[in-house]
Order: sequence, then structure tokens, then C-alpha cells
Amino acid sequence: APTPATTGRRVLLAAPRGYCAGVDRAVVTVEKALELHGAPVYVRKQIVHNRHVVETLEARGAVFVDETDEVPEGALVIFSAHGVAPVVHDEARSRGLRTIDATCPLVTKVHHEARRFAAEDVDILLIGHEGHEEVIGTSGEAPEHIHLVDGPDDVPNVQVRDPERVAWLSQTTLSVDETMETVRRLRERFPALQDPPSDDICYATQNRQVAVKDIAAQSDLVIVVGSGNSSNSVRLVEVALEAGAGASYRVDKASEIDPATLEGVRTVGVTSGASVPEVLVRGVLELLAEHGFGQVEEVVSAKESLLFALPPELRRDLRAAG
Ligand code: SF4
Repeated sequence: APTPATTGRRVLLAAPRGYCAGVDRAVVTVEKALELHGAPVYVRKQIVHNRHVVETLEARGAVFVDETDEVPEGALVIFSAHGVAPVVHDEARSRGLRTIDATCPLVTKVHHEARRFAAEDVDILLIGHEGHEEVIGTSGEAPEHIHLVDGPDDVPNVQVRDPERVAWLSQTTLSVDETMETVRRLRERFPALQDPPSDDICYATQNRQVAVKDIAAQSDLVIVVGSGNSSNSVRLVEVALEAGAGASYRVDKASEIDPATLEGVRTVGVTSGASVPEVLVRGVLELLAEHGFGQVEEVVSAKESLLFALPPELRRDLRAAG
């Protein structure tokens, strides 16, 4: 029964949230490869940065490895959505592995940009988080030309060969506002700084940040569903706080919500990162309903309809299988 502490409790559900086109494509790629070739299917790194997705695919016969040298000679290996350095393709070829590349086309686009600037012998300032798989993959396209810039505070440390020949690129899943600040400071140091031909922070990252901003100021608490190694999910917590949420934290799933954090809260915002299946959000909504947050209002800030074709090597196998 409603008590004075629970009356008027509501949920603002951000939209868009959850799966983006690149994640959907990568997950379907592993599923189809399993159907077509049977288990085991090897996957280099987590196909997408979500624990639930990885565990579900593991149960169906996907085997996640860190490097291709863990894959038996001649076996099939799928490369994750975050992209790989060219050297990884070379290694796979030298071990006779069959490969399916599930790199998101929007990451591949950044790889192309890196190769083009490197071919012009321009130093590339890659804004991104040190050690993230996408950054490692992109850097591998032009290791001699790429310098990592890990946020605005890292700008003073940047060294280039010729300040007249510099360009910036970025990881696809950064905070838009923080990245603009990093670029502003880079341009202060290097007025000749060249921009990428198009936005590197992808549509899905941008849309999810706009959507969480739209609910943040009205929310006493914003809960972001997503895994700790998911860059875009972690950014959503930061963006929610910047945009005025009373508090915000990230959980992998409903059971990680500490009910004590709901005390005194009337409006909870809920969103999820680009690698998060909707079933995990539903679990969070069910738990919130048990605590009196039964009224759910979806706040839609954009519609998304982008879909990517499956990797060509998989489409070929699917056609051959009839
Ligand atoms: Fe592609 Fe963006 Fe999704 Fe990453 S978050 S997989 S870049 S669409």
C-alpha cells in the first residue's frame, strides 16, 4: 500500500537508450555464426562491453579469448565491435584462422580517417581513454602518427612534430561536452588543428547523452544500466550529474540497486548504455515498481532507425548455406 514515503513516486525513462545499430549487428553476428557453424565459435575480446550479453552467448557456445593465439589453428574467430589493429588481422591470417569482423562501421570510419591523415603525414591527436580496446585498435592503424589525449587535462602533455600539421580524431563513445572542451584546448595550443571529416562520437552515444540530459534535472536519482567497462555507459552517469541529476550511479542489473539509495527519492531517471539489452532495463523497472515507482513515463528525445548490414563474410556464408 502507498505510504507517505512512496506516494507520487515516478520513473522517467530516457529514449533512446540501450542497443545501438553496431551492438545489434555484432551480437547477431555471433548468434548467426553459432547457428551456421555450431559451437564453439571463438570471439576475440568481449563482443560488446556487457556482462549479460557475454554470459548469454557463452552459454550458447561462444568462447571468448583475449588474443588470437588462444584460437586453435584453422578455427573461426569473430572480432568484436570495438575494432582491431591491422596487426591482429595479420596474426589471424598467419595462423590460418577464418575471421568475421564485427567491428562497428562507425569505428571502421575512424580507422579510415586515421589512415588518411597518416598518409598525409599529419600528427593525429586521438582523444580517448587509455587502454580502451577501441583506442588500441584505432592507434594500431598509424602507431607512428597517433598520440593519445585522455581528456582536457592531458592537453598540456601533448607533443607533436610540427604544430602546423596536426589533426584530431576521437573514440566513438566519449562525453560530447568534455570532448569539445578537449578540442578547444588543443586548438588553443595548435591553431592549425584540423577537424575530422565528420563527427567521430557516434550518433548512438550522442543521442543517449541528449536523452539522459532531458530527464536529469527532473530526477532525484538517475540509474544507468550498463557494465563497468562500457565507456558510453560510464559517460552517461557523468552526463546525468553534469545536467543536474540529484545523484546517479551505474548498475549491471536490478539486483545491484541498493534500496537505501531510493530513500527520499520521488523521481528516478532510468537509461541504459548502447550495449545493454532491454531485458535488463525491464528488470530495473520491476524492482523500482516494488518500491512504489510504478508510474513510468518515457521521455523521447529522438527516434532511431539506423540498421547496419551484417559483415560481408558472414552474409556470404549465410547465402552459401541457403
Ligand atoms: Fe557503433 Fe556507436 Fe554502437 Fe559503438 S556505440 S557500436 S560506435 S553505433
